[in-house]
Amino acid sequence: MASVTAFSVGHCTHPACMALKGAGLASRCFPSRAYLIETRDRLLLWDTGYSEHFFDASRRGAYRLYPMVTPVHFDGARSLRQQLRGRGISPNDIHTLLLSHFHADHIAGLRDFPRACILASEQGWRGVRGLSGLAAVRQAFLPGLLPADMEDRLSFVEALPLQALPAELAPFSHGRDVSGSGEVFVVDLPGHAVGHLGAFVLGDSGWTLLASDAAWAEEGYRELRGPSELSFLVQHNRRAYYGTLARVHALHRGGRVEILLTHQEEDTAC
Ligand SMILES: [Zn+2]
Repeated sequence: MASVTAFSVGHCTHPACMALKGAGLASRCFPSRAYLIETRDRLLLWDTGYSEHFFDASRRGAYRLYPMVTPVHFDGARSLRQQLRGRGISPNDIHTLLLSHFHADHIAGLRDFPRACILASEQGWRGVRGLSGLAAVRQAFLPGLLPADMEDRLSFVEALPLQALPAELAPFSHGRDVSGSGEVFVVDLPGHAVGHLGAFVLGDSGWTLLASDAAWAEEGYRELRGPSELSFLVQHNRRAYYGTLARVHALHRGGRVEILLTHQEEDTAC
């Protein structure tokens, strides 16, 4: 059985209503998480959170718009690399970086794991590959975050066969086994970004869905409550977003699967 460990790696702040309609203008903290997945034979990371590379990649030209719109707080002593080291895990112990999508707050730490394989959606990669300047920023993508050997290390989830999922994961019916052991199945969660993915992880006490940015706050899937209409200027497809949110809501109501978002609130203040 696999285990999932959450690491908060930097955060940004936004008015609460950006994530939840009607939640007001008070500032809310959105931590960016990486999830370590330990399967029976390998260590996987689900996204990376922020890193110091974010600031290098957003220092010049149109890229400066990104931190202006999304103020980012990051403590180098709490980098993902440092937090993993604190648990006795070195960057080279990570077998694969699984990417939910290519937004900068999910891929900023890629350069810190130079030996890991990278697995992502081909559709998602095609959506950002070669983008630069304003066109990249409009997709919340910073090309400077990509390692130079990105394409040599990158493979695509679409190459793996679609398999039927257990009935308890309904309404999700099919996924792709990225662990090779039946412990981690990637599923499409369309709407937030092109090729946006989630992952079901089978642990000792049942399944967990890493739901990425299917919602930015837990109330989103618990109460079936959407984000600000303004957010669809940067999200990919409003109709698909609500379709995904409804499925995650149904999964939550089923009560048998733990759901973890990338940006859900901390127990402690940011
Ligand atoms: Zn995102």
